[in-house]
Amino acid sequence: MLLSLTSTTTDATDLGFVLHKHPERVRSVDVGFGRAHVWYPEATTERCTATLFVEVDPVALSRKPGGTRKSGGAATLEPYVNDRPYAASSMLSVALGRLFGSALAGNCASRPELVDRALTLEIELPVVPVRGGEAVVRRLFEPLGWAVDCHALPLDEAFPRWGASRYVSVTLAGDHTVQRALQHLFVLLPVLDDKKHYWIGDDEVDKLLRRGGDWLPTHPEAEFITRRYLRFGGLAREALVRLAEANEDSDERDESNDAAEAEVERPLSLNDARTEAVLTAVTDAGGGRVVDLGCGEGRLLARLVATPTVAEVTGVDVSVRALERAAKRLRVDDMSERRRESANLIQGALTYDDARLRGFDVATVVEVVEHIDLERLDTFEQVLFERVAPPTIVLTTPNREYNVHFERLRADKGDADKGDDDKGGADRGGAHDLRHGDHRFEWTRAEFAAWVAGVTDRRGYRATISGIGPEDPDTGPPTQMAVFTRGVDR
Ligand code: SAH
Repeated sequence: MLLSLTSTTTDATDLGFVLHKHPERVRSVDVGFGRAHVWYPEATTERCTATLFVEVDPVALSRKPGGTRKSGGAATLEPYVNDRPYAASSMLSVALGRLFGSALAGNCASRPELVDRALTLEIELPVVPVRGGEAVVRRLFEPLGWAVDCHALPLDEAFPRWGASRYVSVTLAGDHTVQRALQHLFVLLPVLDDKKHYWIGDDEVDKLLRRGGDWLPTHPEAEFITRRYLRFGGLAREALVRLAEANEDSDERDESNDAAEAEVERPLSLNDARTEAVLTAVTDAGGGRVVDLGCGEGRLLARLVATPTVAEVTGVDVSVRALERAAKRLRVDDMSERRRESANLIQGALTYDDARLRGFDVATVVEVVEHIDLERLDTFEQVLFERVAPPTIVLTTPNREYNVHFERLRADKGDADKGDDDKGGADRGGAHDLRHGDHRFEWTRAEFAAWVAGVTDRRGYRATISGIGPEDPDTGPPTQMAVFTRGVDR
């Protein structure tokens, strides 16, 4: 198994610092199924190539649990005679993790300024097994900004009539940071191969999200990649939900594309499912003057502005930064006069009585209540249901029960990151049993229902509760929603 990574950005030997491997030395590590070696066949100021070679020991491999040995112990030569020693696959990905863990994690203590520097890179993979051939290689790498040169290898050079094998030779060229390039390979090599992973384990979701966190949520093939990478329904589903959450949090999204993007079917997004459910509830309530409380960066506002039954939209948030992003998203500046008048942004806190928040027909409160300190929850309730007090309130919040799917998988940390010089990859802290760092609490279905029942009793509203996202038979859906209707006119 062979992979070479070439930089042609001067001084090209900087590659050695980023990879933590000195250009004049050969470095070898034991990777369980064999040994991996890195060396530099070329290291000049103009051009520097690091080559990773993995020597697989098929016998050691066949004895590993989770190796290529078939379960049931049938006598077969397959464990001993297979393509694993030659073809770049999940094992090459493991070797990348072992040898370049620090670079993958973006650590470079000696020259930190190099970490974020994009280099002109070329990656060569002489033999890659690909289910789906060249088209799949392009679908995976081109959206990430790689120029892909790929050709199928013949089954046997001596017998051209036998046609192409399932192996291709791939060259990728592009300007990327080394970290990003390694992440792409780490995640996508096993996806190309689509064989059972050598190392699949409970922490695969974490690894996938850690290595794909910056680019995977917005990759057009994110679902395809996730499904192939995990190869298990349950794990893939959890990863999809967590990717959707990551999408929500990502600061790097191209905000101007969001409204248009939301129109296109994006199979991944829980965020989209939530927006659709809330929009439906707003429309069912008749629209009119709508206030989005805790509007964040304004994703829902952008959709509300484009909803015909909605006459006027106001976004409220305590965060100025979020409001600035919302303004950008709504492109307040180049909106038509009429639209500009119908969209307002207000900085304010939901735990204070604010006269500007009166007189609306509908209030939406999407993924906000869990950000309120528990001791301020009564005040929030009072402001929302007694002061703002619109005829309809649409409120969503996470269902904590769904988190068991997440927590279970955070238990044992994996091994693909270990074995590196200075132990990179430890970039995730301890387990956090809530979905976001800023959440003050998350409710189970029963807790949410109890709060909703209390509110309806105390404040003169009626409510219906429903779920958003894939419903799990045991834990219910990832998101819960309550639609409150004011019972008595005031
Ligand atoms: N509704 C948005 C954002 C959810 S994140 C969406 O679904 O995408 C929660 C938002 O609530 C953040 O933007 C945060 O700034 C805001 N927020 C938290 N506490 C608040 C408070 N007390 N008053 C106003 N906004 C608050």
